[in-house]
Amino acid sequence: MNSANRPTREEAEQAVRTILLWGGENPDRDGLIETPKRVAKMYEEILAGYHIDPKEYLQKTFGEIDKYDEVIVLRDISFESLCEHHMMPFVGKAHVAYIPDKRVVGISKLARVVDAFAKRLQIQERMTSEIAGTINEVLQPRGVAVVIEAVHQCMTNRGVHKPGVSMQTSALTGLFRTNPQTRAEFFSLIK
Ligand SMILES: [Zn+2]
Repeated sequence: MNSANRPTREEAEQAVRTILLWGGENPDRDGLIETPKRVAKMYEEILAGYHIDPKEYLQKTFGEIDKYDEVIVLRDISFESLCEHHMMPFVGKAHVAYIPDKRVVGISKLARVVDAFAKRLQIQERMTSEIAGTINEVLQPRGVAVVIEAVHQCMTNRGVHKPGVSMQTSALTGLFRTNPQTRAEFFSLIK
């Protein structure tokens, strides 16, 4: 976001106060005095991804991989995000794999890429393809696979109220898309 257009923290706190009033609360009572401040600060944390360029995490690569050309997979990367339709949390796990072509990254960087996209207002489908697309674009590997499983509170805690329902999305590029054996290997690795 253009920082020149960015409202101030005070304006954000004022907006929270408005929602409290609108909901029927008295924002001046003891328990709520600090609430607008805390809520603004919380959103600053959970929307921090807007101020991060995930591609930068993948800039530092290692070239001495000694012809390693098998699947590298990072499983069970837990994340928390907010659905863009309701601003309610969806939480789950991401599994990220790639097949390097000359260059590899430190594996913690893959988790950071997941976080950078999770800490925005999201829909799970887009988040999945953004993670895969970024890794594909920067590392130019022989394939990328991303699977995300998540529980959406906007579905379990409101609306249709279906606790326990989780959603799975996937994005596959390169060999994961074209080679059924590679794809099957990936899905068995994350089981
Ligand atoms: Zn939602």
